[in-house]
Amino acid sequence: MPFASATRAFVSRCRAATTVAVSDPTEQCLQDRFALQAFRPSQRDVIDAVLQMRDVLCVMPTGAGKSLCYQLPAVLQRGVCVVVSPLISLMEDQVRQLRARGIDACFINSSLSPGARRETISQLDNGFEGLLYLAPERLATGELDAVLNRLGVKLLAIDEAHCISQWGHDFRPEYSQIGIFRERLGNPPTIALTATATEDVRADIIRLLHLREPHIVVTGFDRTNLLYEVRRPETGKDRDRAVTRILTDQAGTGIVYCSTRKGVEEVAAWLGEAFKGRVIVPYHAGMDMNDRTWAQDQFMKTPGSVVVATSAFGMGINKPDVRFVIHYNMPGTIEQYYQEAGRAGRDGALSRCVLFYRSQDRSTQQYFIDQIGKDNFDTDFRMIKELKEHAQQKLDLMVRYATGHQCRRQMILNYFGDDADIGACECDVCRRGTAIDLDAPIPESTVLLVRQLLSGIARVNGKFGIKAAAELLGGVESERAIKFRFHEMPTFGLLKVRSLKDISRMLERVSEAGLARQTRMQDSFGMLVELTPAGVAVMRGESKPPGLLADLEGVRVEKSSRKARQGVPDDVELDVDAKDRFERLRAARSRLAREKEVPAYVVCHDRTLRAIALRVPQSLEELETIKGMGSMKVAMYGQSLLDAMR
Ligand code: ADP
Repeated sequence: MPFASATRAFVSRCRAATTVAVSDPTEQCLQDRFALQAFRPSQRDVIDAVLQMRDVLCVMPTGAGKSLCYQLPAVLQRGVCVVVSPLISLMEDQVRQLRARGIDACFINSSLSPGARRETISQLDNGFEGLLYLAPERLATGELDAVLNRLGVKLLAIDEAHCISQWGHDFRPEYSQIGIFRERLGNPPTIALTATATEDVRADIIRLLHLREPHIVVTGFDRTNLLYEVRRPETGKDRDRAVTRILTDQAGTGIVYCSTRKGVEEVAAWLGEAFKGRVIVPYHAGMDMNDRTWAQDQFMKTPGSVVVATSAFGMGINKPDVRFVIHYNMPGTIEQYYQEAGRAGRDGALSRCVLFYRSQDRSTQQYFIDQIGKDNFDTDFRMIKELKEHAQQKLDLMVRYATGHQCRRQMILNYFGDDADIGACECDVCRRGTAIDLDAPIPESTVLLVRQLLSGIARVNGKFGIKAAAELLGGVESERAIKFRFHEMPTFGLLKVRSLKDISRMLERVSEAGLARQTRMQDSFGMLVELTPAGVAVMRGESKPPGLLADLEGVRVEKSSRKARQGVPDDVELDVDAKDRFERLRAARSRLAREKEVPAYVVCHDRTLRAIALRVPQSLEELETIKGMGSMKVAMYGQSLLDAMR
């Protein structure tokens, strides 16, 4: 750059910097004290409210930058800012980082020796200004009240504020003292921060901390680089095949979440078999500590590794390049799902979040809910009832996410109360273009169909499950039908033109739309189905079915992909090119068999190789449509076979 223009550029940069410095001390502080260029969306909004001494409730996901929302005002305002935080290591990290930036900060928690604690308190006594991090159990003792009141607390920040609510998954009894502590400090302006807060938890935070007309900011839940997707496999085998496909397509690092330890061990075992060259490790809380540490290390350091885990895995793990998170089972709440799926794509690159849903997942979660309070000897029945009801509502919402036909990202944002405008979306519903317009009128024929389905449910009301209702509507003369005289009922065979699977799926949809509910049979995994009051009203024609069911008539259960496999009759002649491909495939098979130390037919039969040679599949996906090539085989040998043909 010529000297004159370089000078001009320099002068204009200085001017720009001076303008910021003069006009905006908050921006200036961001750059000078925190070495950051610009605020993230909503940080500024929160900080301005704090600086105006308003109470604030700030709900942003992990990593969104909540700390700055109290650290920067603390620096600008001077005086003492007390930060209550439950995580000792996080607290120590933050104090170290602040000091490195020349900002005064100290902490008092159980890790300090009595001597170090005395020293910190005397430092406070000498007129400390800066951020004081406190563990919540230090508040109840009242040991710091005198010194803090002398100093005058300018700002109180409550990190992980959801710990105050028993509805949150991290309820901490020590947190319930914070409201009283705040009063003893003369109710300083307070900011409560959390990553997970649904309506009920938010209301608890406001109530228990006595926040006065707080400024509430909920933002940052939209993860634009995550491709959400829900799959509803017909059978367990279909699910395994689909998981294998995803791992085959995604060479990057991933996490597969299962809801039970047994599930983790089984899935890790067969995936390990199917992907011999890849690091696939199990992780759950029942494992030995050393094994867990080893598994975590492998996952962190090996490119392309996959951890199969329960929800015990993930806290504090910061791996930016996780390319996919698969939920082999549906978790019990959207918070949990969001938190686990959100471990994908921290680096901002596109990443997949695939949730598999089968109705058994709902039963498993239902079982967990039924267990609430079972190990509690000093049982408070009212509390347990409330906890169960809450868990039930959350499970219902999770099922709605898994079975709904609305944009997944939008559903997550709605759930958290984040009103961000999402624009274009790549979730499975938006990609298929099947999002349902909930306000569109429902065709009369669909209304009739819904009422027929409901009348089928009414006949088995609370005595049998969906399968029996489907048999009744489908007119199946089963043993059960005869024993319970289904065939004499007017609803018998009402929908016999549809397949049983279609009828079952439609019944499930009706239940998911809130017109029926499924309850677990006492001491068993079986589910019973019964009408809800909304269902009764629709059946009687007193109200319309919800818009969610607008597409019900189109329900067709896909045939299992295995049945659609293509083979080739043995007597089809191979032409010269196909023969050449066949020979090359055979050579590849011999090599693979030697490598894996298995007989050649275990890799695949001649008949399968002939079909491949004739059909010339161009991708692993196409290869899987050939008879004899299951997803496991495609995963293990597919690429070598395709390479051999080229
Ligand atoms: P949270 O408490 O919400 O989980 P943190 O406050 O720990 O998140 O911030 C996460 C990371 O984001 C930190 O490394 C922090 O320095 C960084 N960060 C915060 N605000 C900004 C910003 N405005 N610009 C760039 N980085 C930021």
